[in-house]
Parts: sequence; C-alpha cells; structure tokens
Amino acid sequence: MARRTLARMPSTPGTPAPGPQISVLDPETDPRASYLLSPALTAPLVARILTSHSAGSHRSVAPFTGQPLVDLPLSSTADVERAVDRARDAQRYWTDVPVLERAEVLLRLHDIVLDRQSEVLDLIQAESGKTRASAFEEVGDVAQVCRHYGVRGAAYLAPRRVRGMLPVLTQTRVTLLPVGVVGVIAPWNYPLTLALADVLPALLAGNAVVLKPDPQTTLTALWAAAALEEAGLPEDVLQIVAGGGDVGAALIDEVDHIAFTGSTATGRKIAARAGERLIGATLELGGKNPLYVAADADVEAAATGAVRACFGNTGQLCMSIERLVVHEAVADAFVDSFVAKVKALTMSPAMDYSADVGSLTTPAQLERVETHVDDAIACGARILTGGVHRGDIGPLFYAPTVLDRVPPQALCAQEETFGPVVSVTVVSSDAEAVTVMNETEFGLNASIWTRSVAHGRALARQVRSGTVNINDGYAASWGSVEAPMGGFKSSGLGRRHGREGIEAYTEAQTVAAQLGVGMGLSLDTLFSLPEGRGQAMLTGGLRVLKALRAR
Ligand code: NAD
Repeated sequence: MARRTLARMPSTPGTPAPGPQISVLDPETDPRASYLLSPALTAPLVARILTSHSAGSHRSVAPFTGQPLVDLPLSSTADVERAVDRARDAQRYWTDVPVLERAEVLLRLHDIVLDRQSEVLDLIQAESGKTRASAFEEVGDVAQVCRHYGVRGAAYLAPRRVRGMLPVLTQTRVTLLPVGVVGVIAPWNYPLTLALADVLPALLAGNAVVLKPDPQTTLTALWAAAALEEAGLPEDVLQIVAGGGDVGAALIDEVDHIAFTGSTATGRKIAARAGERLIGATLELGGKNPLYVAADADVEAAATGAVRACFGNTGQLCMSIERLVVHEAVADAFVDSFVAKVKALTMSPAMDYSADVGSLTTPAQLERVETHVDDAIACGARILTGGVHRGDIGPLFYAPTVLDRVPPQALCAQEETFGPVVSVTVVSSDAEAVTVMNETEFGLNASIWTRSVAHGRALARQVRSGTVNINDGYAASWGSVEAPMGGFKSSGLGRRHGREGIEAYTEAQTVAAQLGVGMGLSLDTLFSLPEGRGQAMLTGGLRVLKALRAR
C-alpha cells in the first residue's frame, strides 16, 4: 500500500534537528546527587535481600551521573529455594488471616506511599533516571491499586453460589483459593509500579510472594517491601531475591505461578519454562503502540497528548506510543504542532518537577535507541527533530526524536524501540489507519484521537490491542484499575488489574454438595432405577430446564 508522506519537511535527511532545552546537574557539587549515593539510605534496604553472599554482587549505576549507586549482593539458586521455602511456611498462616485484614495492609500502604513519596521518588529517580513527574506516576498508580484491591478485593474473592446440577438437591459453591507461592519477575522501567502491580493482588488473594526485581532497580523494590512490612504485612510473606535472568529462571522452577513483566523475547522463555512445570504464567510484554489522529480530531489536543504519550518516561514504557498514524486531512497541521511541542521539551536530571524528559536507564537502552535511529536513517527515514545523544546533559540522555518516511524494513518500523523515538505515517482513510495500526506482531496499547467518541469506539473494535484510549495516550486505560490490562498477540498472556488481575493468582475450587441422600433422592438412586427409567426421568428433566431457560 502506497502511503503518503508529509508535504513539508522541517529538516533534511539524516541531519539531527536542534534538541530540547537543557539544564545540567553537576554530580561533583550538587548535594542531591551525593544524598542518593548515601549508604545510610541504601544499607538497611540492601539488608533485606535474601542472600548467602555466595553469588557475588552487582554494582548498579545512577543513570543521571554514570556514578556507582549501590553494590547489591546477589542471590544464588540455593537462596531462591530458601526464599520460596520461607514463603511457603509464611503462606500457611497468611492465608488464614481474614481477607478484610489483608485488605487493611493495602489500605495502610496507600497512605505510607503518599505520605513518604519524596523518599521513594528520590530512589526511583536515582535508579531509573526518569523525571520527577514520571516517578510520581508510579506513586499515584500504587495508591490507586492499593485502594482498588483494598476496597474491592474481598468482593472479587468472595465465594459464589452457582446453580447445581439438580435443582434444589445439588448445592454448588465456587471458592477462589490462593495458588500458594507466586513468583514475580519485574523490569526496571517502572520500579515501584511494576514491583507491586502483581504483588498486591497476589498477597490479597492469600498467597506469599517471592519478588525478583531487575538488578538496576532493586532498591526501589526493597523500599516497597519495607513499606509493606510497615503497613502490617507479616515477616516472610514477601521475600526479595536479587539478580538477573539466572535468578529469575531459578524462581520459575520453585513457585506455583509466575507473573512476569518484561520483553517479549524473555516472555517466550518464561512461558516455555512455566509450561514444562505446568504452572500458570501471566506475561505482560512489549508493544509497538500506535496513536491515530483521525480527520475529525482536535489537532492541538492530539499534539499535546501525543507528546506525553510518546516521551513520558523517556519512551521507556510498555504502553508508550512509538507510531503516529495521521489522517492526511490534518497531517501537516498536526505534525507542525507536534514537532514544535517536542522541540520545546526540557531535558535535565532535575530532582524536582522542572524537567519534561529524563534520561534513558541503561547503556544498553542508549545503544538500542541509537541503533534504531541510525538504521532508520540508513533506510531513508528523515529526522524531523532529535536524533542525537545528549551526553552534555548526562551519559544516557537522548533527544526526543520524530522520524518521517520510515520504510517497513527499518528496525524501528516493527521492533519495540523502548525509547524517545516515534515515527509518523500519513494515511488517507480510517480503514487504512486500522490496517497500519494492526500491522505489527504486538497488540498492547493503542490511542485514537477524534471529536466523536462513537467514532473512536467503532474504530477501537477493529484494533487488535488489549487497551484502546480515546483522546488519551495511555493513562486513561492504565489508570482505570477496575478494568483488565494486558496484551493481544505477542504482547502477553493474561491480564492485570480488576477482577482478572486477582483471579490470576487463585485456583477456582468447585464444591458441590448433594442433598437428600438419606431420603433416597441421590443421583445413585436415580441411575440405579431399572430399564432406563432414571435416564428417562433425566431426559424429561433436561427438557423442562431448557423450557424454563434455566442457566
Ligand atoms: P527483560 O525481559 O530483559 O527483563 C525483565 C526481567 O526479566 C528482569 O528482571 C530480568 O532480570 C528478568 N529476566 C531476564 N531474562 C530472564 C530469564 N531467562 N528468565 C527469567 N527472568 C529473566 O525486559 P526489560 O528490558 O527489563 O524491560 C523492558 C521490556 O518490558 C520492554 O519490552 C517493555 O515493553 C516490557 N514491559 C511490559 C510491560 C507490560 O505491562 N506489558 C510493562 C513494562 C515493561
């Protein structure tokens, strides 16, 4: 399908356009930088890692400065086994704690996270290099999830009566029992949110949890564990093991369910390993998420929303928009406005709310972003703004980048970049937009901008994506915590949030009690009637039940 490109080109092919405004934090002189490296803050947290100190250590580096942040002792395979054993013991009494008492722990955590937000915001920024505003998204999100499951969780878990096999005589109840010990493997991009998003419903359902955060962001997960203990979670119900993929793999071999958030490539390995053991796996994976600006969109609002959707958390968000699909009727107006807004973004390692865009988190991320942009240019793409490493701000800063004319064979046309890079594709109809939106292997999040919500809903039905936001980039669906969130296609298996997000950590048990046995009304009596009379009675009964439209 021939796609149109933009009529006007603000920049020549392959030439980096002027980057955003900057301000620099000097790690040598700024007291905030040295506070973040203070052992007084990190030592009590590190002491929570379950380790026998036999597996060595990992030095994490602060993305803002490139300076060492903390030396983390790693957990060995034997430590993982020990953590799961301890969790298994703790789960036996935790499951007997009434659900409303378990819910109180979440509600207290809600208050702790909000009251002590500056402490955890510092940690999140130190480990991830994100802006204060992106870090606050995590605090707000955890409060939402605590409130939702704290208030609603008991109802999700309540036993329910269902119609039994024989009316009146069969009493059937469905109970949701905890699976036992849940393993959670979390990535680095949302260190607080993604450490807790699955842990909280799993705990509320009566499970114990062993959490393995990413080595880059383990301190934040340890802070979360300390806060949960302060909120009343008994000792050992949540264990933390530290390490990389080998520790994650060892965890899968021990637990009763694995909840994984991370890349699609790793997700496939996790699913295979969980499949070998026949344990449940919930997989929240990558995306290549599109945002469509329809012909009837409010162009200014769409441009403002798209900036946040593309460059929030420096693009290191599974739900980030990486593909802008724009109707030709509004393409020039939208792109002019969007590019101008991107150029006005401020980048800095500020520990206050002054920066719009932060740092990438790891050198591997910087390399991936640079590879994708260089490859796109080599394939003929044009840079409308950005396209440069901003080592003058910090070692891992990269300018927010807008690409046009990205051909289908370019890496960034299909693969997740997971950075501040977005491409623009112009289409001439809604039908073409839907085709473009659906043409990657992913299906995590999509965004549609239109003045008509009905129009947006009609398009949403055609988009193969777990969440679709109308007139918003991603926050509306992510923040609707009563609704399931997850991916179609290669973006995942299972859902988090809402009823689905807690049922995932339970086993449904059906208990059916047959009444009237002593009065000769049992099924055995019926089936033992001679000459098929029991079967004839059942046949009649089935016909009556259908006539009555019984469930
Ligand atoms: P990753 O897959 O490299 O690592 C994620 C976690 O898995 C880390 O804790 C890592 O140590 C562990 N791990 C790595 N190999 C493993 C193995 N073989 N067995 C067990 N554990 C292993 O992903 P990442 O680069 O840290 O995170 C970025 C990715 O996460 C992106 O693709 C992003 O889209 C995705 N993500 C998805 C969601 C979602 O909700 N769908 C949310 C955030 C991030």
